[in-house]
Parts: sequence; C-alpha cells; structure tokens
Amino acid sequence: METFLLAKKEFEKEFGSKFLDNEEIIDEYSKAPYLVSPILSKMGKRILGAIIAEDENDIEYAIKVCSKYRIPLLARGSGTSTIGQVLPIFPSIVIDIQKMNKVLELDENFLKISPGVKVLQALNYLRKKGKELRVYPSSFYISTLGGYIAGGDVGIGSYQFGYHFHDNGIRRVKIIGPNGFHELSGDMTLAVAQAAGTTGVITEAELAIIDYEDWKDQLVRFNNVSEVVNFLKDLEKERSNIRRITVEDEEALALVSQGRVKPGKWNVILASTKSFGEEVNMRFLDELAFAAIYVTMSKLTRFPNYFYEVRLLPLNSFLSVINQIKRALGSNVLIHGDVMTLRGETIIYTVFMSDKSNFELIDSIMTKEGIPFEIHSLIVNDRVDEEYRLELMKKLKKMVDPYDILNPGKLRL
Ligand SMILES: Cc1cc2nc3c(=O)[nH]c(=O)nc-3n(C[C@H](O)[C@H](O)[C@H](O)COP(=O)(O)OP(=O)(O)OC[C@H]3O[C@@H](n4cnc5c(N)ncnc54)[C@H](O)[C@@H]3O)c2cc1C
Repeated sequence: METFLLAKKEFEKEFGSKFLDNEEIIDEYSKAPYLVSPILSKMGKRILGAIIAEDENDIEYAIKVCSKYRIPLLARGSGTSTIGQVLPIFPSIVIDIQKMNKVLELDENFLKISPGVKVLQALNYLRKKGKELRVYPSSFYISTLGGYIAGGDVGIGSYQFGYHFHDNGIRRVKIIGPNGFHELSGDMTLAVAQAAGTTGVITEAELAIIDYEDWKDQLVRFNNVSEVVNFLKDLEKERSNIRRITVEDEEALALVSQGRVKPGKWNVILASTKSFGEEVNMRFLDELAFAAIYVTMSKLTRFPNYFYEVRLLPLNSFLSVINQIKRALGSNVLIHGDVMTLRGETIIYTVFMSDKSNFELIDSIMTKEGIPFEIHSLIVNDRVDEEYRLELMKKLKKMVDPYDILNPGKLRL
C-alpha cells in the first residue's frame, strides 16, 4: 500500500484528471461485465486506480512507474472478455486504451490501427472501400481491436481462415513493456495474440483484410447429427465461398431465435455467396456465435444452475460425442457449434450448456475426444492449443516483462 501511495503521487502529477481512483471507477474497472463463468467470477480483486491513456507516452509513463514500484498493470479495451482476461486477480492499475483510437488507415491488404479502434469502426471504414477484416469477433459491435488481438482467437471468418492471427493475420504489431518498445512481425506476432496483454501493451498493429462479398444467411434443417456431419463434409470443397457456419440443436435455436425462425431437429446456419438452403434474416446470428452463445444463454436459460463447457471437436468426434450426450440427456443439454478450419481441418468449437449437475456425465464423454479448451481458467496456457505459440509468448514475456508486471499470474512460465 505504501508503494502505491508513492506511485499515486507520480500518477497524479503526470496524468492529472486522467488518473482516477474514486470508488465508482474502482468498482467499474474491477469488474469484467461479460464474465458469466460462475467459477471465474469469484476470483477478482479490487483495483487501485485507472489511467485513461490518450497516447503511447501515457502508456510508457504508466509502465515506468508500475515497474519501479512493482505494481501490476492491466490493459483494458472495452472489457468484453468472457474468460477473465480483464479480471484483475491482484490489486492493479488499469490502463484504459479506448481513447487511443485515432489511427485507421488502409495499406494494400492490411489495416493499420491504434489499439482503441472499435471493431465496428474498422468494419464501417473498410466497408466503404469494399473490404472487411479477414476474421473478427462476434462482439464486433462492442469490442476494440487491441483487445481482440490480445484476447481473441476465433470469430466471423474462422471457417475460411481459422484463428485471426494465423497466416500473417497480424502483419506487424508494436508493443511496449517495462523493457521498452518492440516492433514485431512474422511469427513473433504470435507471442502477443491471445496472450491477454501479458507480453506487452499493444500501441499499433496491422491486420489482414479481404474483399467484402454479399454473404447471404441461410438455414438448413436436418433430422440428426449424422446428416449434419455429412453436410459439413460436403461443404469443405466450398470453403472459400462460405463466410461462417454454426450448428444448433432444436432447443438452442428455439431459445435464441424466440420465434423468429422455425428450428429443425438439427440446424446448420451458414453465410455464403452461394445458395444452400432457405434464406433467412438472421439478425440474431451474432447472439449465437462463439462466446456470444454462453453470454446470451446465461440470460435466457431455464437451468437453475446454468453451466457450460467448450471443446474443439473434429467432425467424427463431434458425431460420436454429441450422439452419446444427447442419448443420455436429450433436451436437458443444449448444443451450439461454431465450425472453423484449424490447421486445414474442420473443427467444431462445441459449446455444451446444461445444469451444473449434468456436467459430471458431459465431461466424462466430451473429454475423451477432441482438443481441450479450458473455458473456466484464467490462465493463457490452458487455452492456447499450439505449443510453439506458448513458447513464443514465454520468450517475449522474459524479454519484455521480467518482473511479471503486465496482467500478472495469467501466463505460466
Ligand atoms: C457477445 C460476445 C461475443 C464474443 N465473441 C467473440 C468471438 O467471436 N471471438 C473471440 O475471440 N472473442 C469473442 N468475445 C470475447 C471478446 O469480446 C473479444 O475477444 C474482444 O475482441 C475483446 O476486446 P475488448 O476490447 O473487449 O478487450 P478486453 O476485454 O478489454 O481485453 C481482452 C484482453 O486483452 C488485453 N488488452 C486489451 N487491450 C490491450 C492492449 N492495447 N494491449 C495489450 N493487451 C490488451 C486485456 O488485458 C485482456 O487480457 C465475445 C464476447 C462477447 C461478450
């Protein structure tokens, strides 16, 4: 506490009204408003104060002081992370980067941005030029690009391109940590993506874009999971013509669509330039995709002790796991899947939603297959499914932040 008082004096002198530590601000920034996990929600600590950064110099100064007094520093965009990335687990200084939103420039096939630029702001800018981001989150209407680079992985476009950072998705990223500024390109950008700000605060980046096409949302209904999987196998040859695909069981679609469409027993919703099924107005589609589904369901659910798990399942595993779980639980488990392409293979980001009491059974079936995706952990290591990216993160962490000042405790070395 004594060191914080010394740091506070320096912050007040340098930042004036850009440093805030009244109760209201402390309350606001100590919370992660979209964190619906009953496990993670209990782990937060109250922050010490917040700095509203307007430029790189502000970040540089904040890091210098936090580093001097060994005070944790947590970067924050819009705070929409659903997996505890913006939850302070130590008393920290939060640096809000939303006002750093002035750079937005097209450079050939990349978009240069400052980190506080909202995803929606970038999409609107690109749309006027006939372009869009290659992959972006279903929280595009609320989140920042800096937060997506540091916190996100999948999103709209992941059926075509996989993770947003794969294949030069980030051409260049500039970060700052206690050991100064670093310009990263090539594989080293992977040490920043999905690292939850533990390996540096992003001050600039260049992101991959594509031509905008007229994607039409369509619904195709099926009687069972086997038909769904066969259809998805057939679709693989059309990958470049399909922007996104989700799979919903009857109960999940009925609950989210609230009468706006008539669900089949199983449903595939896809956006394509080609015609595959009934064209539908899917205004609610963004409430379904990826993290949106368990946030949306947390509000609509009828389960008294609502709980959810995620598993990344290849098509054949999806078929076997879902058949076993549905046979055991029927409509007492809701299934949502986002269909992606990872390392050339179709993988379903499968979300199981049910009452907590059913998860012993669900876990016993789902954990036998697929790629683990630990949704109820605050630790970056538990979600990154590529060892070489984790190694890059650890390498950069040691270089940039040797005393673990940046979002401490979230990256295991
Ligand atoms: C309805 C809904 C749908 C979602 N859909 C998706 C989805 O499709 N795909 C997906 O990947 N995520 C999704 N998310 C999670 C989240 O919205 C995204 O990852 C998002 O882009 C995070 O942006 P943010 O500005 O809110 O970042 P924050 O939540 O503020 O921060 C996220 C992480 O990034 C760090 N960070 C923020 N800014 C910086 C910076 N400048 N430098 C270094 N680190 C920084 C933070 O410390 C934190 O660890 C969804 C969330 C919701 C609520």
